[in-house]
Amino acid sequence: MRRFSCPECGSQVHFDNSRCEACSSSLGYAASIDQVLVVPGHTDSAGTVAPEHLFCANRDLIGCNWLQETPNAAGLCQSCLHTVKIPDITDPEKLLRWGRLERAKRRLFYALIKFNLPLAIEADYSEGSLRFELLGDEFHPDGMKKRVMTGHDDGLITINIAEADDAIREKNRTAMGEPYRTLIGHFRHEVGHYYWDKLVDQAGVIEMFRACFGDERRDYSDSLKHYYANGPAQNWTNSYVSAYASAHPWEDFAETWAHYFHMVGGLETAYAYGLNPQPLQDGALPLVQLADPYHVVDFDQLVEHWVPITVAMNAMNRSMGNRDYYPFVLSLDISEKMKFIHRVIKDHL
Ligand SMILES: [Zn+2]
Ligand SMILES: [Zn+2]
Ligand SMILES: [Zn+2]
Repeated sequence: MRRFSCPECGSQVHFDNSRCEACSSSLGYAASIDQVLVVPGHTDSAGTVAPEHLFCANRDLIGCNWLQETPNAAGLCQSCLHTVKIPDITDPEKLLRWGRLERAKRRLFYALIKFNLPLAIEADYSEGSLRFELLGDEFHPDGMKKRVMTGHDDGLITINIAEADDAIREKNRTAMGEPYRTLIGHFRHEVGHYYWDKLVDQAGVIEMFRACFGDERRDYSDSLKHYYANGPAQNWTNSYVSAYASAHPWEDFAETWAHYFHMVGGLETAYAYGLNPQPLQDGALPLVQLADPYHVVDFDQLVEHWVPITVAMNAMNRSMGNRDYYPFVLSLDISEKMKFIHRVIKDHL
């Protein structure tokens, strides 16, 4: 994430800010130009409405600070208009959880737009298009519980909003033995399945995928059952970015895809704050910041710059007594898989 400043007074503002804390200007993020803009109030008593940049209709409800850039009937920004189902927001807790999920989702969309990945700018709720349902488990009067399973199916991404509760997510993380579990991680993973359908599942690309990740035609539900019954593949850390990635080539792809997003997004943030750790060895060449990590052509440069940042960030977190920022090790095999994803994103192979 890059840094932003208030166009009115120049103070630093954050990606999620709807208002400048210093001068009280009303702010909105215009995704198409990657700028925070000062927008005259839409509820102005004189009826002033900025004609080109209207606030997202979810602004007051959940604090979405994006602008509605393509007029649409629902009055939503590009991120919100991809959400087709939301929980029962008469329940304040569910409203809060939905808001947290949308906040993480805007960071996903920020990256999708920066990567120039194919993405609808208008509402498209047809089969196969990218849609989200953010729903909670339902408890029926007879005591039955209808569980919402997080996952992807033909463009439809479902996230259980319970994950937006820190205590629940942490409990799930521990139960699954995962070193890392976040809302943004869920979105990056699930959207990886969507782009697999769009960009990888075609002649000329699928063969390269199989050479790298294995054959996805092996039975998916049997593979997952096997994973949950027997745990990850032996020595999985040699070839997989997470234990779960070893369950099936589709999951490996989604996990590695999410990881590629972590790396590029992390690099952009590090550079925005001047974090560019240098090698310790005498005579080692200095690492010069990459101009724009989202558009670097040479994949190896990304890894070369990313690893020292993760070491520095882990050291920062340990100095505060926190868990590691980056609890992963990038093996050669994993790098090769990320390189494939890099090519898919760059070339839409
Ligand atoms: Zn300001
Ligand atoms: Zn919005
Ligand atoms: Zn998955």
